[in-house]
Amino acid sequence: MENIDEIGEKLVVDAYRLDREGETLEGEVDCVDVHEEFVDAFGGVRYRLNARVFGTELLVRGSLEQDFSYVCSRCGKDFDDTVKLGDFTASFEIDDKSPEVDLTNEIRESIILALPTFPVCSETCPGVVQETKTFTDDRWNVLERLRMESRQPGDQVDQGASGSAEKRR
Ligand SMILES: [Zn+2]
Repeated sequence: MENIDEIGEKLVVDAYRLDREGETLEGEVDCVDVHEEFVDAFGGVRYRLNARVFGTELLVRGSLEQDFSYVCSRCGKDFDDTVKLGDFTASFEIDDKSPEVDLTNEIRESIILALPTFPVCSETCPGVVQETKTFTDDRWNVLERLRMESRQPGDQVDQGASGSAEKRR
């Protein structure tokens, strides 16, 4: 892994020092400088890439991950999510004079292109909650309470069932 410059904010590969069979590059590079009000990158891009030279070309493929904190475009809540690319691919011409290839821009662009246009905290996000139907009629409250009780997990349901059975006798 000595051929990788991991220091700072760049991922540079020296194509001439790569294993002929290709090499796996793994690590983190802090290169996505997106710090907006509604989308904010934190940590670096975690990469796991296979780099291999074919003739005068360096071919790189693998996976990238970058964490972001977002503001939900529907409900305005803060949430974190990870952009994951499983199929990052890039190729670079290798110049005899400069066998060092800088992968940083391609990585940054791929992550940014994968950002959601309208981030949502979950697919079922209801959006800004409008006052949901409040039950003005008491009869509906009873139904709602029954529904809540039937959702109680495990033991409580059993206890409730035996309790009500006793009362009925
Ligand atoms: Zn939301």
